[in-house]
Amino acid sequence: MSRTRYVYFFGDGKAEGTVDMREIIGGKGANLADMTSIGLPVPPGFTISTEACAYYSDNDGAYPKGLREEILEHLDRLEKVMGAKLGDTENPLLVSVRSGAASSMPGMMDTVLNLGMTPDSAQALAKKTNNERFAWDSYRRFMQMFGDVVMGVPHDDFEAALQAVKTERKRALDTDLTTEDLLEVIDRYRKIYHDVVGEDFPTDPIDQLFKSINAVFDSWNNERAIKYRQMNDIRGLVGTAVNIQAMVYGNMGDTSGTGVAFTRDPSDGENIFYGEYLMNAQGEDVVAGIRTPEPIETLKSVNEKAYNQLLEIRTLLEKHYKDMQDIEFTIQEGTLYMLQTRNGKRTVFSWLRSQVEMVEEGLIDKKTAVSRVPAGEFNKLFAPVLDNEQIHAKGIKEVARGLNASPGGASGQIYFSADKAEEMAALGQDVILTRIETSPEDIGGMAVAKGILTTRGGMTSHAAVVARGMGCPCVSGAGDLQIDYESGTLSVNGQSVKEGDFISLDGFTGQVFLEKIAVKESEIVQVLNGQMKEEDSLLFQNYNKFMGYVDEIRQMEVRTNADTPHDTKMAVALGAQGIGLCRTEHMFFGTERILSMRKMILANNKIEREKALAELLPMQRQDFIEIFEALNGLPATVRLLDPPLHEFLPNDHTSRHEMALQLGVTVEEIAQKTSQLHEFNPMLGFRGCRLAVVYPEILHMQVRAIIEAAIEVKAKGIEVHPEIMIPLVSHYKEFEYTKKHALDTIEKVFEEKKTTIEYKIGTMIEVPRAAITADEIAKSAEFFSFGTNDLTQMGCGFSRDDAAIFLGPYVEDTDKGFYDYDPFEVMDFDGVGKMVKMAVDLGRSTNPDIALGICGEHGGDPKTVAFCQEIGLDYVSCSPFRVPVARLAAAQAVIK
Ligand code: PEP
Ligand code: MG
Repeated sequence: MSRTRYVYFFGDGKAEGTVDMREIIGGKGANLADMTSIGLPVPPGFTISTEACAYYSDNDGAYPKGLREEILEHLDRLEKVMGAKLGDTENPLLVSVRSGAASSMPGMMDTVLNLGMTPDSAQALAKKTNNERFAWDSYRRFMQMFGDVVMGVPHDDFEAALQAVKTERKRALDTDLTTEDLLEVIDRYRKIYHDVVGEDFPTDPIDQLFKSINAVFDSWNNERAIKYRQMNDIRGLVGTAVNIQAMVYGNMGDTSGTGVAFTRDPSDGENIFYGEYLMNAQGEDVVAGIRTPEPIETLKSVNEKAYNQLLEIRTLLEKHYKDMQDIEFTIQEGTLYMLQTRNGKRTVFSWLRSQVEMVEEGLIDKKTAVSRVPAGEFNKLFAPVLDNEQIHAKGIKEVARGLNASPGGASGQIYFSADKAEEMAALGQDVILTRIETSPEDIGGMAVAKGILTTRGGMTSHAAVVARGMGCPCVSGAGDLQIDYESGTLSVNGQSVKEGDFISLDGFTGQVFLEKIAVKESEIVQVLNGQMKEEDSLLFQNYNKFMGYVDEIRQMEVRTNADTPHDTKMAVALGAQGIGLCRTEHMFFGTERILSMRKMILANNKIEREKALAELLPMQRQDFIEIFEALNGLPATVRLLDPPLHEFLPNDHTSRHEMALQLGVTVEEIAQKTSQLHEFNPMLGFRGCRLAVVYPEILHMQVRAIIEAAIEVKAKGIEVHPEIMIPLVSHYKEFEYTKKHALDTIEKVFEEKKTTIEYKIGTMIEVPRAAITADEIAKSAEFFSFGTNDLTQMGCGFSRDDAAIFLGPYVEDTDKGFYDYDPFEVMDFDGVGKMVKMAVDLGRSTNPDIALGICGEHGGDPKTVAFCQEIGLDYVSCSPFRVPVARLAAAQAVIK
């Protein structure tokens, strides 16, 4: 048996890896190999596989047998291709070392450039390039990156030393430093390195190389990387690959430079070449946010040939990968090199527009477009925007304009550190994290922020990339603003605000305002509400086209959980095909209704109860009339009263007093009733169909209201399809008992009204016993709707109202992680899902025509929607704003 291969070469127009080997050589490695094969100018190199990283992680940092030799053999090959040698005193080879997992994790892993630098090779490089300054600049950069990334020397120590030399020698910019200055910096770096590491800076390039490879392997399991994978739901990867590539230099003088670009706008998706670059700089300078880069269009006047070549490559790459690319390039003394291409990370706005336009350009088909747009982010399309009318009406002026790094409007209180932002967000404040630039340590503060503002850094700075990934509005590089961390102020042109003051950001335009501004609904919502015209919103037009593709592919129906006409209308506008759950108890909380409800609860006998119910009947009927009208022919599953009755009674003394006065009873009577209704486990208590079993008159009133409303709406010429749903059934006899009562009422109403309508009667499956005996229940039920909130609560034994206290570690802690996701958000497929599947199969075994859906919170979760498709449900139902997400997820589930 041949031994496992760990290293793959690329260079000179040929590559051993291929584009479909992402799992083994990582996304970056696969695309470097691919770009080499299609003839793009890629500096040669080799990729160490993710399997080597996995072995290293599993074996306490040991290498698999033969790996070291294999790396050295490939280094030898690279040296031959380049005609240069690592550490050579005449013609030294320098390499970069970069990580690259199968899924891209931008900015989360570490890079080392100029590896192979020693004082001797720096001198050789100076001679060879006839550029002393460049050689020593490369050396000091290498020391800094190697020291920081590989050996853990604090980045700030190096920065402080660099700054000190700049100040002492009165140099404004890094590029103003002379060779002598740089030698001084290097000297100081040496001392810093020695103080922290306890040994001299390594001068053996092979030692440097293996230390760097190990650092990349180690970085796979550092805290940031783990957090990033958790936040982005990146699972199932074994490790990162390591890419070792011959260096090309963007810092060789004014004809050299480096940049990054997107083949379309990553913020709004427009089909334009979108990027930035810096001359006389190395890769990290552009993304680190230290210098604010130039927009790509200006490269035309600097180096027209390279610019045109980039434009050609842009078209070629989009045709080749059939998606928007994110590229990195370097120009070395006028010659262009490609260092990376990958599918571009982008906002959901950009996803939507780029995919719709690619379909229209004939680049991809609708199915591909639908499969790509991330369902988990889709609801950000409905994200709020700043209220422009308020801005105009109040004459609010922008104080600065940065880059529109991530879309959305945000208004909140500013904090200058991630820790403070986290602290204040925990207290319920809307916070705007405001920093000169962000770094990976700020991730916690960024995650809780309503908006992010930086004064330095471009569209690809850490802040911009991470904010876009999180869907958090962000303005970056607002260079006119000055932040003083010490005094906690943000100032611009003589105005200033303090920590805790309000500011507002527009992530669509890059505008910054030093005032609180109302935030209002997204354009899509405005068009759906009729506040904006469709032709004025490109976003809406693209959304509409895209949802058209989605609905062509989707098989499951998508309904909504709604209990007011307003929500119903919104949900229908968002594409709901009916109501899957109308929780009637929500209708009893209005001021007038709650009184009648309380009378009903306090009633001492059936006659009193029926009197109170008679007060409720017209209100319920009116609710249903309005909902049926809003549905305009779509079906509505109306659930009979479900919660424990104590939820309708006040529990503090003042409110009881008020209630006593209103109802003409004594406070004692109320207290007595409340204590009678008290249960230790109310969720397992007197609720659901049990209420109807004990007090059938409640059921009679509700069923009458539903049927009378349906008859009235039908008489107006509007179709109605009421579906009466009995909650919390666990035994088929409960269902049959309550169903009989419902049928009696329906017959009575039909007789009284001398007409009939079509209706259905079914039940929720939300108690484990019901799932297990679903075959018995299905004999008399026309539909099942899975109430997975209660099914999770009772199936896992987690109180849905209290479990948060301990559930976090069950999901997040690496030594526990019993559940992959919070089981109340993503269905626990192995447990609760198994019960659902069992009930589906059992139900269909005795009633092949039974309609099956889900109405628990899980119905709007994309992963659960995919599961529902897999087990053959007919529909999912979710809250109105999750309807588009569920539609998309349902279509994606068909494609998978
Ligand atoms: C459920 O239990 O999943 C359900 C939809 O009902 P509720 O959340 O109202 O208990
Ligand atoms: Mg329930």
